Amino acid sequence: MTDKQPIYILPEDSQRTIGKDAQRNNIMAAKLVAETVRTTLGPKGMDKMLVDSLNNVIITNDGVTILEEMAIEHPTAKMIVEVAKTQENEVGDGTTTVVVLAGELLKNAEVLLDKKIHPTIITKGYRLAAEKAQEILNEIAEDVNISDEKILINIAKTAMTGKGVESAKEKLAEICIKAVKQVTNEKADLDNIKIEKKVGAGISDSELIQGIVLDKERVHSEMPKKLENTKIALINVPLEIKDTEIDAKIQITDPAQLQSFIDQEENMLKSMVNKIVEANANVVVCQKGIDDIAQHFLAKNNIYTIRRVKESDMKKIARATGAKIISNLKELKQEDLGKAGLVKGEKLGDEDMTFITQCENPKAVTIIIRGGTEHVVDEVERAIKDALGDIIAAINDGKVVAGAGAPEIEVSRKLKEFSNTLSGREQLGALAFAEALEIIPKTLSENAGLDPIDMLTEIKAKHDNNEKWAGIDVFSGKVVDSWEAGVIEPLKVKTQAIKSASEVTELILRIDDIIASSGNSNENMPQGMPPEGMM
Ligand code: ADP
Ligand code: MG
Repeated sequence: MTDKQPIYILPEDSQRTIGKDAQRNNIMAAKLVAETVRTTLGPKGMDKMLVDSLNNVIITNDGVTILEEMAIEHPTAKMIVEVAKTQENEVGDGTTTVVVLAGELLKNAEVLLDKKIHPTIITKGYRLAAEKAQEILNEIAEDVNISDEKILINIAKTAMTGKGVESAKEKLAEICIKAVKQVTNEKADLDNIKIEKKVGAGISDSELIQGIVLDKERVHSEMPKKLENTKIALINVPLEIKDTEIDAKIQITDPAQLQSFIDQEENMLKSMVNKIVEANANVVVCQKGIDDIAQHFLAKNNIYTIRRVKESDMKKIARATGAKIISNLKELKQEDLGKAGLVKGEKLGDEDMTFITQCENPKAVTIIIRGGTEHVVDEVERAIKDALGDIIAAINDGKVVAGAGAPEIEVSRKLKEFSNTLSGREQLGALAFAEALEIIPKTLSENAGLDPIDMLTEIKAKHDNNEKWAGIDVFSGKVVDSWEAGVIEPLKVKTQAIKSASEVTELILRIDDIIASSGNSNENMPQGMPPEGMM
C-alpha cells in the first residue's frame, strides 16, 4: 500500500476562494461600486471628474458613464456595471439608482449571512419581495399619455435637474417633448431622434430641426448651396464603375482604343446621373462613394449631393422625408423621392454640415446641442438622453410615478406588511429587501446635506397617513407632495431598477466558489480586495 496522494483537479497555479470568503469578497466589491456612485444621486448629487490614460477629462454625475470610464476589473464589480448598462439600454435613466440599490440589497444580505441565515433563504425572500414590489409599483402608478403636456414636461425636467443644464432646462425640456411627439406614431422610439453636438454658442441655442442634420459637405463646390422644395433620392449603392467590371483583361493596342474605353466609362456614369435627373431629383444622398466624373455631372445638373452617409442616417432621412432607399438606380422612380422644404450646406461651429429640413410631418428629427465647451455639450447630451429615455418610457408604458424617494418609501412600507404574511425565515429576507429600498431617499437626503434620519421619519409618517407621494424637496429640505412639486418619473425607471438590482443580488449571493484559472492575470481575482483604484 502506498501513502495517500493529494488529488489535484485544478492546475497548480489557479486560485480558488470558497464559501464565506468568496461571498464576502463579492459583496465587498459590489458595495464599493455602489459607494462610488452614491454621492452623485439626485439633483444635489456631486459630479465626478474622470481622467483617462490620455488625460482626457470627463465631468459627469451620470452613473453609467462613471462606471464605464472607471475601467473596473473585479469580476463581481463588473457585474454591477453591467446592471447599470442594462438600465441604460432599457430605460436610459436610473443608472445610479440601480447600482445604489444593488449595493444596499447586498449589504442587508450580509447582515443576514452574519446571523447564519443561508443564502438560499435570503434569495428566496428577496425574490418574493421583488415580485411583490413590481405589483405594488404598478398599483400606485398614475396614468399618462402623449397629450399630457404638463406631466411630460415635468418628466423631462426631473430627468435633467442637477445635470449642469439648469439655465436652459425649460427650453431643453420643450425640445425633447416636441421631438418625441413629432416622431411618435404608435410607439415612441429613440432611434428616430438624431442628436448632433457642436461646440459653440450657449446651451440655450440648442434647437430642434424638423428633419435631419448631417456632418457632411456637398461633394462638389459647384453644386448649389441651398435648394428649396427639394426632391431627394436616397441611394445605397456607389455611383461608380466597380473595378471588377473593368478589370477584365483588356489589351489596348492603340491610343484610340484607350480613349474609347474611357469614353465608355464616362458614358456609363453619365447614364447613371441621367437616371437621377430623369426622376426629377435635385438632392442625392448616397451611402457609398461617388466617382469624380459622376460628381461633375451631378454638379452640372445642379443636384446637391452628399456621399458616404451612414446607414442609420439613411434610414432617418427616409423617415424624415418619406423617401425610399434605392439599391438599383435603374429602378429609381419619381415616387421614391423624399421631400424637404429646404436643403442647405451651412457651417455649424467650424464644421460644414448639411441640413435637410422643413420636412412635412417628419418621422425623424434632429436635436442640435450647443454649448461653450466639449465638456458642456457632452453633459448636455447625457441629460437630454436621460430626458428622452424617460419621456419615451412614460409614453410607451402609459404609467408614471412621483420621484424624490416617494415610491421607494411607499413600496418599502407595503413590502413590510407583505413580509409579515410570509412564514419562516424568508420573512427576514423580504424585510431586508423592504428596508434596502430606503437607501434612495436616505441618499437623496444625505447628498442634499439633510439629516437622513429626520427626513425618513417624517416621510414615513406621511406615508402612514396615506400620502403616497410624500417625498423630499431637496432644495427646501422639506417633505412635500412630490407629484404636486412636479418631480415625476416613468414607472419603468423604478420597475427596471428593482428588477435588475434584485437579479444581480441573487446572482452574487449564490456564488460560493471562485475559481480563477492561471491564465487570469488579475491579482485582484479572488483572495484580496477589489483593485486599488476603487477604494
Ligand atoms: P439616476 O442615474 O439613478 O437617474 P439621478 O442623479 O438622476 O440618478 O437621480 C435620480 C433620483 O433623483 C431619483 O430618485 C429622482 O426621483 C430624484 N430626483 C430628481 N429630481 C428631484 C427633485 N427635484 N427633488 C427631489 N428628488 C429628485
Ligand atoms: Mg437620472
